[in-house]
Amino acid sequence: MAELHGNRIRLLDPATVNQIAAGEVVERPASVVKELVENSIDAGATRIIVLLESGREGITSLRITDNGCGMGAEDACTAFTPHATSKIQCIGDLDRCRTLGFRGEALASIAAVSQVTLVTMERDGGQSATEVIIRGGDIEKVNETGAPAGTTITVRDLFFNTPARKKFQKPGGSEIATITRTMEAFAIANPGIAFLFASNGNERLSTEGSGDLFDTIVAIYGSGVADELIPVSITEGPLNLNGYTSKPSLSRQNLYQVYVSINKRQVYARAVVEAVRAGYGTLLPENRYPVAFLDLGIDPSYIDVNVHPAKRIVHISRERDICAMVTGAVSRALKGADLVPRVPDGFHTMRKTDPSVSISRGYDHRARPAPGVAETGHGAVLLADRRLRHSELSPVTAGSGDGTTEFIYLGQYSGAYILAQGPSGDLLLVDQHAAHERVLYEQVTAFRDPDQEAQELLVPAILTLSPAESGILREYLPLLMEKGFSLEEFGKDTYAVRMVPVILGKPGNGEMVRDIIGDLISLPRKHGPDSGEQLARTIACHGAVKAGNVLTSGQCQRLLDQLSRMNEPWTCPHGRPVMISFTRERLDLLFKRT
Ligand code: ADP
Ligand code: MG
Repeated sequence: MAELHGNRIRLLDPATVNQIAAGEVVERPASVVKELVENSIDAGATRIIVLLESGREGITSLRITDNGCGMGAEDACTAFTPHATSKIQCIGDLDRCRTLGFRGEALASIAAVSQVTLVTMERDGGQSATEVIIRGGDIEKVNETGAPAGTTITVRDLFFNTPARKKFQKPGGSEIATITRTMEAFAIANPGIAFLFASNGNERLSTEGSGDLFDTIVAIYGSGVADELIPVSITEGPLNLNGYTSKPSLSRQNLYQVYVSINKRQVYARAVVEAVRAGYGTLLPENRYPVAFLDLGIDPSYIDVNVHPAKRIVHISRERDICAMVTGAVSRALKGADLVPRVPDGFHTMRKTDPSVSISRGYDHRARPAPGVAETGHGAVLLADRRLRHSELSPVTAGSGDGTTEFIYLGQYSGAYILAQGPSGDLLLVDQHAAHERVLYEQVTAFRDPDQEAQELLVPAILTLSPAESGILREYLPLLMEKGFSLEEFGKDTYAVRMVPVILGKPGNGEMVRDIIGDLISLPRKHGPDSGEQLARTIACHGAVKAGNVLTSGQCQRLLDQLSRMNEPWTCPHGRPVMISFTRERLDLLFKRT
């Protein structure tokens, strides 16, 4: 048993307090980058350079350089004291606060868990520059030195004294991708600042800082994305909304490219994101999100930024009204825009002749039934057939289950659920998407031989990605190869998809790879399963028949047969139930027969 240290309450020493506080603000390298870049923006910088070095041990150094106001010698030292800030003086100032920082915690927290070298030179009236070296919160050295106006902060040995957080340093971790994404969001929210981000000397992101958001979008996402955008701009009550949102022809599997900033602050604002999406009404199918780059200018007195240690969440008063204005603005922008879809090169013929196209793609949104309406007709039957066939052809179809479970098809409900009778005579309601996902998942996990299970695309699909997407893809590349993909990088952030796993069906559909990457980017990875597992789940999800696909009775029975051979037919890979069962007794009870 651990020894208890008496019952006396004691005050923690300042170093311990700082280490504990540091956890809230800087939980990982990406949060260090976020805090330091915010400081540079607050310092009025017009140029910010982020250089990252990493090796087998993960990220070894982070350096942020700005041409902002800089600090005098005295401030350079005080800046590392907890709660030292130049940005507010009393709590009332928060209502007027337009800076990103205000708590005076970041530098103290970062210095508490790493070695920091600060070199800073005041822009106005500085005599000489100051260098401060601080480790584990202790100032080790202060020198006079020479440097251009602005500030450079180098962080090394991050988390050297907090081993638990070192896990983010693992090689192959997603940290660099997260940092890239953070940098993308900074650049989008601040088109007037020139950003440069490089990792081990390789430039990952660079913007001109022309002040024009559109230029910034082109620089980061390429003209493929930029050409599909519509401007959104309104001033209404307390809201001043500006930016771009995509035509329905450009959509993503999830919300990772809906960039929303509030007063140029990167925040997680799910309600606003959903409000943007709501502006599309039925122009987007239920499971898609637009690409959007929007800044909400809101009078600071409406915003409480002091509700989250890393300031990632803000409270908006009158949030409902503001969200309604956002929805209205997006909807009006779409109505006024020319939405005739432009089919990207290389997809045209595929899409036109492929009867399944109208089911899953955003290109012909006019022909699409309203969300929630079941997909029927010849095309749908063919697509479902193809998807089911992929999981039947697989050499591992036999599954690892013993095959003794038997499900008898009874009917289909609402294009989403299969009614069946289970092995012990129970009535089963089976979620068809979850069921197929389970089948595919067990196959993907058992997948061993890429040659047998991959199919070559007639024309390689070309994917142009953003730096963050490309970072994720690079990270997953070996795993993707293992699972039957063949991708080749040619040119910056551009890839040719040559092969996809058979179970994904639909040759020619490079967009599916993007959707898969989109999933991988937006998955919470902190406590989640490892990358191989994530990938298997994602592939299974994309290859599976969807809710809304009306299946023929034969197809339902085939799906049930496949399911019966699985190890774990009861839940989908995401842990949701595949089926709900009712015993005869339970039904009798429900009908009050007893
Ligand atoms: P906060 O940003 O909440 O004020 P920080 O710990 O991040 O707290 O920074 C403390 C102070 O150090 C800031 O208020 C600012 O005066 C100064 N400072 C930090 N980074 C810079 C920088 N890059 N340029 C100029 N001053 C800076
Ligand atoms: Mg700060």
